Order: sequence, then structure tokens, then C-alpha cells
Amino acid sequence: MVDGSTLREHIRENFDVVIVGSGAGGAVVAKELAEGGMRVALVEEGPAFAPQDHRDMAVDAIYRMYRDRGFTTTFGKPAIPIPMGRVLGGTTAINSGTCFRTPSKIFRHWNEELGLHELNEAEFQPIFDRVEREINVEPSDFAVMSRANTIFHELLQNRGTPGKPLRRNIRKCDGCGYCCYGCATGAKQSTDVSYVPKAIRAGATVYTNCTVEKFLIKGRRVHGLRGRFTDLDYANTGYTLEINAPVVVVSGGTIPTPQLLRDNGIAVENWNLGRHLTIHPTTKVYAEFDEVINGWEGTPQAYYLDLHEKDGIMFEGIFVPPDVAAMMVPFVGRRLNEFMRNYKHMAAFGLLISDISQGRVVKMPFLGTTVLYNLVPEDVEKIRKGIAFLARVFLEGGAKRVYTLLHGFSEINNAKDLERLENARVRAEDIEGAAFHPLGTCRMAKSQKHGVVDTSHRVFGWEGIYVCDGSVIPTSLGVNPQETIMAFATRFAGIVLGKKITD
Ligand SMILES: Cc1cc2nc3c(=O)[nH]c(=O)nc-3n(C[C@H](O)[C@H](O)[C@H](O)COP(=O)(O)OP(=O)(O)OC[C@H]3O[C@@H](n4cnc5c(N)ncnc54)[C@H](O)[C@@H]3O)c2cc1C
Ligand code: SF4
Repeated sequence: MVDGSTLREHIRENFDVVIVGSGAGGAVVAKELAEGGMRVALVEEGPAFAPQDHRDMAVDAIYRMYRDRGFTTTFGKPAIPIPMGRVLGGTTAINSGTCFRTPSKIFRHWNEELGLHELNEAEFQPIFDRVEREINVEPSDFAVMSRANTIFHELLQNRGTPGKPLRRNIRKCDGCGYCCYGCATGAKQSTDVSYVPKAIRAGATVYTNCTVEKFLIKGRRVHGLRGRFTDLDYANTGYTLEINAPVVVVSGGTIPTPQLLRDNGIAVENWNLGRHLTIHPTTKVYAEFDEVINGWEGTPQAYYLDLHEKDGIMFEGIFVPPDVAAMMVPFVGRRLNEFMRNYKHMAAFGLLISDISQGRVVKMPFLGTTVLYNLVPEDVEKIRKGIAFLARVFLEGGAKRVYTLLHGFSEINNAKDLERLENARVRAEDIEGAAFHPLGTCRMAKSQKHGVVDTSHRVFGWEGIYVCDGSVIPTSLGVNPQETIMAFATRFAGIVLGKKITD
């Protein structure tokens, strides 16, 4: 592992393959290709941290490990924060650890309506088995779940519609509740503790604190890249990396990847580049109980309900520590004071929707990489319905009060308020939420009329350059995407090695 922040020399090397980004896509490709006998370089913009480094407050961890210090946001109606990791392990290092296989109905859609027969569900099953073994996917244990999850479980049981524990990539999780701010015990099997160490053991070289900016191009063939090393504040150290490799894999994530291609004149003629962005918009509902809940203690995302999955709504546990909550709830002054004073009595549950809205990643003068995204009315309605369902479960389950992030409905105190919410027409700009799953900006397709990469991940019209991260996922999934991305990456490594990689 080469720490670019302390390095004091230029580096020029030859490899068989160089990969940009160490998240769910890049780290998996690195490990599989290194174990397959290739000479692999993995280049990551962010720094590396050991589990014991994760001892700070959540807001400090966001500053340390999130792209744009956690302030990446979409432009549109509504503006939606869209956090991403910039650290070894990519966004897997700061995610909740929830794992889902790609749903069957999504495979059917890809096969039957998009003609992507290569994405065959049966052939993916042994790949999922392998990924789940690598990252140790197991059901969450009720014993370490946050009370916000178990209280929701009890309320659902009373209604006769129980949900299920989420499956997560963990080993001996103690329920400390800090998954999105760096797991201090190393329990969460993010790629920095699972795939990257195995890649290194198999001979891969990992460069951290190195921002890739340029591809080496001859005609329509990419044969390497250039990056600049930075210190921990992302200032140039003055030293550079140059790697020659016949295979260049871009795994920078759904927002950075299309911009990196565009900056290098790659696929700029392709109308699809940067388009078809889906993000799984989310929001949450708080409910105040008499009981002391301390919802930030215990695994925050450990339980789910897919009762409304056919309508494109999925409910999942969520809870943020008080320092983050104080910044995120849309209250100020006395109301914020009162909310935070009662925070220990709050339960919460979240929802995400399968969005049919589509956004774009563009480059704007003065602003740089910019995400444009507007929620269409059908998606607004899904969110309203989801909020109303959660509010009903909590209120009928004995909550004193329910708080939503929907303007005009911030407090639901009784059946009348609930009825008003259930019959309301809301606008996109009334919704406060966030989005954690950007996908699709270099989507895989049968032809360049519909996407940016072919079914072997090669950029249409180019040689030597491949994309393997969330950006290639052809459509919104309706479930958390890391396992799908890891499975795509495993399949892609098999294509490069010329053999199927299975369990
Ligand atoms: C708070 C949060 C919670 C989440 N929870 C879950 C969950 O529970 N389950 C789930 O399935 N998904 C979850 N996700 C989403 C999931 O983690 C991502 O979908 C997944 O990690 C994306 O993988 P990727 O390879 O596309 O990109 P990333 O994992 O984001 O990796 C991209 C990497 O590339 C690096 N990079 C970018 N540009 C350059 C460059 N020019 N040079 C060098 N390096 C570069 C970045 O720094 C980054 O490390 C969550 C996301 C967030 C933000
Ligand atoms: S709850 Fe704590 S120990 Fe468990 S995965 Fe999350 S951060 Fe790690």
C-alpha cells in the first residue's frame, strides 16, 4: 500500500490492469483479478483508515471520509443531499451494511424489456454466493439492533404484518451504531477490510490519496492514466503517478465516473453519458414515545418491511446520532431545542422508493460536477404514501407524536392530522430527504443508443477502457445496491480473466 499523502517522489509503473476507485466496484475487481494472476494497481482518491482510527464524533467522521465533506446535493425539486465516501473502501466504508441480492423482477426487466440476456439471474446466483462469503452476509441479530428497529418490529407484529431482520455484511457486530461513520471494531466487512486486503495479499499495489485526472489515450484506445498525489486536505503534494496498463477500469462511483470520462473526451459523443441517474430517494419519520429509546445505540439499519414493494416503496430502519440529527431535521430555534431534548424518546423508521425520475450529472461553469434531478409526481406520491404508512403505524402503536420531514405535516398528533396527510396532495419541493444509492449514469445496454457500456463493461466505441461501479447498473433496483455492484464486478473480473468466477 502506497500512502500518497506522505510520498515524496514521482511514480511511473507498468501493470496489467489499473483500477480507479476502491468501493463496491473497484475493490472487488482488484481482488478477483489479482487472485487471477494479473498485476493490478488500485488507485484511490481518499485516505486509508484502520478500524481503530474511527473514534471521533459522527460529524467529524463525515468531514474526514465523505466526498465534499458530506455536502453533495442534487439541484432540482427538491434539493436532495447525496452523500458518498471518499476513502479507501469507497462508500462501503461509510454505509449501513445492508445487503440484498438483485430482485428477480429486476432481472426479468433487464432480460425481457432491455434485452440484456447476459444478465442472467440463474448465472448470478453462484456469484452472489461468492460475494456473500467474501463479505460474510448474515441476518441482523435482534440482540444488537437499535431499539428504534425493535419497537417498529413490535408494532408491526401487533398489526399482523411483521417485517424481517436485514441481512448485513458483518462479523461479530457489537451494535455500537456507527456504521455510517467508520466501524471501529472492523465488524462491518466494507471493501477496505474485506476485498482490499485480499487484493494486496494477492500482489495488488494500492495507491491512496491519489486523484486520477487524465487517461493516456492513443486514437480510440486508453492505455493508462495519470494521477496527482494529495495531502490529507486534498492539496497537491507536487508528486504524480503515471501507470501504463492495457486494461483501465473506472470505478469512481456513479457521480464522479461520467465526469472523469467526459473530462478526458471519452464517450462525449454518447447522449447517455451522465444521464439516467436514479438515486432511491429516502426520507424518515420520527415518533416520540414515553419510553427512553436512545435510538442511536444499537445497529441503526437492521430491520425492514417490503409490504409495499410492489408499489415501489421499501421500509428500512434508520437512525442518526444526535450531532447529525441536529443538523438534519428541518427545525430551528425553540422547536429544534425541544426536538433534541426529546431525542432520547424518539423512534424512527425510513423508506426508500424505486424512482422512475431520472437525473443527470453535468459540468457547470463555476460549480464543476453538478447533479440535476427532479422528482416526478408519481415518485412524490410514493413518498407521501410511505410517510403516511409509517405515521399510522407509529400513531396507532402509541406514539405521543409523529414528526415527518414533509412541509405542512411536520407534526402528526392525532387521527385527524393523519387523515389530512393520507388525503393530501404534496409537491416535490415539500419533501425533505436524502439519497444514498446513485446508479445508472454510464448504464449497461445492448447498444450505444441506450447506454454507455456494453455487457462486458467496455465503453462503446473505445478500447482498453471499462466502467465497473454503480454507474453501469441499468435501472433503479428498489433495494440497497452494494451487493448488486459487487456481483457485477465479480462477473466483470471473470470476463477479463476469460473464465466464469463462481463460488
Ligand atoms: C450513508 C450511506 C449508507 C449506505 N448504506 C448502504 C447499505 O446499507 N447497503 C447498500 O447496499 N448500499 C448502501 N449505500 C450505497 C453503497 O455503499 C454504494 O452504492 C456503493 O458503495 C457504490 O459503489 P461504487 O463502487 O459505485 O462507488 P463507491 O463505493 O463510492 O467507490 C468509489 C471510489 O472511487 C473513488 N474515486 C472517485 N473518483 C476518483 C478519482 N478521480 N481518482 C481516484 N479515486 C476516485 C472515491 O473516492 C471512492 O472511494 C449507502 C451509501 C451511503 C452514502
Ligand atoms: S453497529 Fe458498530 S460494530 Fe456493528 S457494523 Fe455498525 S459500526 Fe460496526
